[in-house]
Amino acid sequence: MAAAYFSKFYKKSKQEKVQALLEAQILTSEDEQFLKETPLLSDGLANSMVENQLTQYALPLGVALNLIVDDKEYAVPMVTEEPSVVAAASSAAKLIAQAGGFETCITKRRMIGQVALKAVPDTTHAQKQLKLHKKDILNKANQAHPSIVKRGGGADDIAIRLIEATEESPEFLVVHVYIDVQEAMGANIVNTMMEAIAPYLELLTEGKVLMSILSNYATECLATATCRVPLNLLKRGDLSGEAVRDRLIEAAQFAYADPYRAVTHNKGIMNGIDAVVLASGNDWRAIEASAHAYAAKSGQYRALSTWKKADNGDLLGSLTLPMPIGFVGGSISIHPTAQFSQRLLGVKNAKELESVIVSIGLAQNFSALKALVTEGIQKGHMGLHAKSLAISAGATDHWIEAVADELKKAPHMNLETAKALLDKAKN
Ligand code: NDP
Repeated sequence: MAAAYFSKFYKKSKQEKVQALLEAQILTSEDEQFLKETPLLSDGLANSMVENQLTQYALPLGVALNLIVDDKEYAVPMVTEEPSVVAAASSAAKLIAQAGGFETCITKRRMIGQVALKAVPDTTHAQKQLKLHKKDILNKANQAHPSIVKRGGGADDIAIRLIEATEESPEFLVVHVYIDVQEAMGANIVNTMMEAIAPYLELLTEGKVLMSILSNYATECLATATCRVPLNLLKRGDLSGEAVRDRLIEAAQFAYADPYRAVTHNKGIMNGIDAVVLASGNDWRAIEASAHAYAAKSGQYRALSTWKKADNGDLLGSLTLPMPIGFVGGSISIHPTAQFSQRLLGVKNAKELESVIVSIGLAQNFSALKALVTEGIQKGHMGLHAKSLAISAGATDHWIEAVADELKKAPHMNLETAKALLDKAKN
């Protein structure tokens, strides 16, 4: 374990943090050099990534430590504007590492492409035609992007869905194509394939194509993380391990039963997931959209994670959600900080990256629930928020820490108090 290098890591200066990561052989001297340079995109690159580019928008990248996933230790890059996310992920990862860490299970990485057809004159006949010509449909899809087939992926199955007419919408005949996208997120690969088969589907069904695009509801690309926490690691203040376990299970049951709570519960999970997805150069809107749709798969929006009691009394956590990230493609291969994130993480492929991301989601959820059912969320959160308040009040340099320390002791931690404390400290 690299933990020996990370004692009181959060108290170290930036240079000491980099030094510790170098000594733990997580960073190389090239990475150290990269961190010394201004980590901005070149103007040319930024301009080629989006339209009408004016400037760049910076967010901090922090590192969560001590995460053990499938017996391998990771230092995890996290990009977020929210204080306490990196700290919460690190503290949960450290605690769960003492119990062996997280185990994960990743499905085959298949994305779903949709071609929606309308005005199909005979949907029964059309469905028969589609089934009869399944091989041709798959061949045409694969011919549109042969390189993915050479890599061992490509379109491998179809499904047909008839969406009945209602007062609000006409009837749609929808063809789903399942595509193994290998190491890519796959949106462009899938869209190319769907547009290529659209005219053939019109021919087969005698209908009109409305649109051809991937579905971001990636139900064929799921990631699961589980963990087991013994009671001795759960004890908190006056609360026994049993009490914390039972309260945490009840918190998960509440989030299962109540959508108002479930949304906040899942937002906490996404605090961790989005931060790693963003650091890795991936499309976080795709992950967000898919996660929340998956949370509502039963017809009611529910918690994405479950927490249960094991036969021996341990606490068992589990989180499953769609994880359509890529290891190559999109902006991943061109964004220098996304490339740095891959080096820091040391992941070798998309499945391994999925394992780390889903584990961080479960770690984040554990931290939030544990705080909620013990001392409450504000104690840890506001401690870190104090620095933001100090900066908002106008503090700079060493004044930030000084005002934040006083703020933590103040009866009302708000901007007004921060301003008063800064005035008092300076005068
Ligand atoms: P790309 O278009 O970049 O395609 C993947 C690229 O990676 C291809 O050029 C492919 O090469 C290359 N590649 C190299 N090695 C591999 C490998 N082992 N496995 C797979 N591909 C490999 O990206 P995606 O198709 O993944 O699309 C993702 C992008 O699309 C994201 O930026 C996303 O934001 C955006 N997007 C998202 C949409 C949505 O979510 N609804 C809609 C439209 C776009 P080769 O060409 O040789 O196959």
